[in-house]
Amino acid sequence: MSAKPKLAFFSLASCEGCQLQVINCEDELVAVLGAVDIVNFREAIDDRRNDYDVAFVEGSLTRSEDEHELKEIRERAKFLVAFGACATIGGVNAMKNFRPLDQVRKYVYGDKAGVFSTYETKPIDALIKVDAKLHGCPISKPEFLELCKCLLAGKQFKVSNHPVCVPCKLAENVCVYQKGMTCLGVVTRAGCDPMCPTFGNKCIGCRGLIDHPNVNAAFDVLEDAGLTLEDALKDFRMFDGCAANDRIKGATK
Ligand code: SF4
Ligand code: SF4
Ligand code: SF4
Repeated sequence: MSAKPKLAFFSLASCEGCQLQVINCEDELVAVLGAVDIVNFREAIDDRRNDYDVAFVEGSLTRSEDEHELKEIRERAKFLVAFGACATIGGVNAMKNFRPLDQVRKYVYGDKAGVFSTYETKPIDALIKVDAKLHGCPISKPEFLELCKCLLAGKQFKVSNHPVCVPCKLAENVCVYQKGMTCLGVVTRAGCDPMCPTFGNKCIGCRGLIDHPNVNAAFDVLEDAGLTLEDALKDFRMFDGCAANDRIKGATK
C-alpha cells in the first residue's frame, strides 16, 4: 500500500447513513485527511478515481446488476471493508426476504414494478471476499477511526466478539428483561458502547450475531422472562434477516 493510502467509498442498496458517519467525524476528519487521500466519495467530493487502495462498500446485494460493479471494486482494491449492517449482514434490506419478492416489488414500485429487478438480499461477502467488517446501523465512528489507524500502522483490525451484555453490565444498566422487554444483547456483537440499553431501550441486533452465540442460554433468558422465541425473532428480522432464522431455529432445543 502507498505511503498515503487512497480511500474510496461506494454504495449498493443502502441509505448511505454509514458514509454520513464518516462526514460526522468532524473533530477527527482533518487528522484523517492528513493521513489518507480520499479519491472517490460521492457524498462528499466530486472526484471519481479508481486508483484506490482501500474500498469501503456500503449496502447489500439486492439485484444482479450490482454484482459486476462489486466484483470490479474487489479487483481494484488491495483491502476491502464491508461498511455497515447492510453490507455485513444484509441489514434492513433483508426484511424483504420474509415476503414474496413480487409483492415487495409491487409495494415499492407500484405499476412500474416490472421495470425493476430484485432478488433476495445478501451481505456482500456472499459474492466477494471482504478483508474487514465495520458493523452497525450505522457504523460506529470510533471503530471507523480505529480501522483507519490500523490500516496506517499495518496492524490487524479486530472486531468485538463478545455480546452487548458485557459492556451493558459494566455500565451498570438495569437489564430491560426486568421491564418485560426482549433484548438481543445476549447474542449481538458488542462495540456500540451499548447505546440502546444505556438509554432504556432493547438491543435490536444491528451489529449482528457474535461468531458463536450461546443461543440455548438466550432461550433460557427468554423463558425466564415469560417471553417466546417469536418475540425475539421479530427483532432479529429487522437487521439480521439473512441469518437469523437459520441460525436460531437450527439451534432450537
Ligand atoms: S447500515 Fe444502516 S445506516 Fe448504514 S447504510 Fe445500511 S441502513 Fe443506512
Ligand atoms: S439490557 Fe440487554 S444487553 Fe443489557 S444486560 Fe440486559 S439483555 Fe444484556
Ligand atoms: S445496542 Fe444493539 S441495536 Fe443498539 S446500537 Fe448496539 S448493537 Fe445496535
